[in-house]
Amino acid sequence: MEKFKELGLEGEILKGIEDLGFQVPSAIQGKVIPIILRGENDLVALAQTGTGKTAAFGLPLLQKLDVSLLKIQVLILSPTRELCVQIGKDLRNYSKYRTDIKILCVYGGTDIRRQMKDLERGVQVLVATPGRLCDLLKRNAVNIEHVHSVVLDEADEMLNMGFKEDLNFILDETSETRNTYLFSATMPKEVERIAKNYLHHPQEISIGKKNQGADTVSHEYYLVRAKDCYETLHRVIDCDPDMYAIIFTRTKIDARDIARKLQKGGIDCDALHGDLSQAQRDDVMERFRAKRLKVLVATDVAARGLDVDNLTHVINYNLPEDVESYTHRSGRTGRAGRAGISVAIINSKEKGKLRKIENIIKKKFQYREVPGGEQICRAQLLYYADKIIVAEPKETLDKYQHDLFKKFEVLTKEELIQKMVSYEFSKLLKKYAMVEDLNLSESERNERGDDKKRRGRCSDGQREFTTFSVNIGRNDDFTSHDLVAIINENAPRKGLEIGNIRIFDTNTKFEVNIQGLNEFMSCFRNVSFNGLPFTLTAIKDRYNRDKRYGRDRALQRKERRNSTAINKWQVEKKRSNNSKHGRFAGKKEGLGIVKFPQK
Ligand code: AMP
Repeated sequence: MEKFKELGLEGEILKGIEDLGFQVPSAIQGKVIPIILRGENDLVALAQTGTGKTAAFGLPLLQKLDVSLLKIQVLILSPTRELCVQIGKDLRNYSKYRTDIKILCVYGGTDIRRQMKDLERGVQVLVATPGRLCDLLKRNAVNIEHVHSVVLDEADEMLNMGFKEDLNFILDETSETRNTYLFSATMPKEVERIAKNYLHHPQEISIGKKNQGADTVSHEYYLVRAKDCYETLHRVIDCDPDMYAIIFTRTKIDARDIARKLQKGGIDCDALHGDLSQAQRDDVMERFRAKRLKVLVATDVAARGLDVDNLTHVINYNLPEDVESYTHRSGRTGRAGRAGISVAIINSKEKGKLRKIENIIKKKFQYREVPGGEQICRAQLLYYADKIIVAEPKETLDKYQHDLFKKFEVLTKEELIQKMVSYEFSKLLKKYAMVEDLNLSESERNERGDDKKRRGRCSDGQREFTTFSVNIGRNDDFTSHDLVAIINENAPRKGLEIGNIRIFDTNTKFEVNIQGLNEFMSCFRNVSFNGLPFTLTAIKDRYNRDKRYGRDRALQRKERRNSTAINKWQVEKKRSNNSKHGRFAGKKEGLGIVKFPQK
């Protein structure tokens, strides 16, 4: 406790953290606690979750409260309900011996009237999600004029989740003389902008480097064919019986499908995604926290702010769309100085993305071979043996012991072990008796996975990727997430390889590795996005016509422009002819007939 005392903490707050078993301050606590206690500076702290940042801001802010004043003095904004609840719980633990401190958490998804009543009773520390706090402010149900300290926790996540306007609104409602403490795992431009606009000469501290992952996390990857990603995932889980992990997927459909498949394969798991009600989310999280689920399959959005200790692994089933999100995903493991592993399961075309992530996290991914059947069975059997060795014999067994021993007398020790294990593991042993080696050969592994290679043809001369165009684009708020979700939902087969996606204002081009063009196209006939029909066109001709696709793309673009111009001209000419001679005869300008200038 001495070290915490040296930082300026005292009395009951010290007693509170002693009960939690904190002995020495973490690196971020060592830096942040004195700054907040002095209250002279604003602060920008680059730090991952798991570094002890809640106590870093929570302890000094609790100590600084004027308990004679029953007004909100400290406002903590966090991106999600889960994180709010977690922060509230931590603050209550730190102030266990300070019953005079009133802490309240407000967040969306629960009855606002109850929160309004709680606010009426008076609190000194308010932990809130930006959306709900804005609602409360607009209803005049909360007064934040007396706030002297604002904490923006996981600022990058709050901005990712679209809370920019809400943050501006809230910060404008607080006093100019407040101190603002901003915590963020990454420092994208938007966060820098908030810091510039709302913080006064902030002191900057960084635990780890900008956008860099925690030191305690090691990074591994499995390189397999796209069609083998799921099987690889299953084997990686089976090979580590002690695993306690979150698996990240890009879409909620993937999260749901993978969780279902894993459940069918006998793994205790469930999915967490945006389609669940709050009660369902709470139920999943409760089971995961209690370790009744070994793995949780989640989308990035659903997993935001999740605070689960002791995760052994984070598994990236798909690499995140935006490479910076990787830092957030991997930061869920390796917390509080413990070791953690972040795994990426990738196919050849994702190698480039992996390298980009390495540049951001300043660490190398270690290549791992997909475990084979023997390795998995050995891991499971030895784990089982370890569990048996340490199991405490139940007293209630005493009365059956005599009969049991007598029954087993017919077997030797070796026979007994063999039979018990065969009985217990018959399914697993059968499943992994003869499984395919999913690892790529060395030459396949070393092949370039970049666009040029990918756009070529397979060795058997088949076209690998087909390019499609769809009539929906950026102007319709269409994102690559939406596209991937629509493909996964409607395609005849799950887990199709999706290549380049280019979203333009009014349309989107994308590549998919498909087998039957007609079958694929027919699946999208009745699909719509926000009420707009999802009209798909295959641009396959480009591959057939030009063997060296990409050779002269500029030329192709020019050709396309010309052909569009010619088409337009032909249409107009036809219309113009019609107007002179046919259906439109006699109808004049103003009916939309464009006249081409006479040469
Ligand atoms: P946080 O980054 O605030 O989510 O904290 C991560 C975990 O570290 C939580 O389980 C905390 O209880 C724990 N923790 C925070 N500070 C300390 C400390 N000084 N000593 C030991 N554990 C700590």
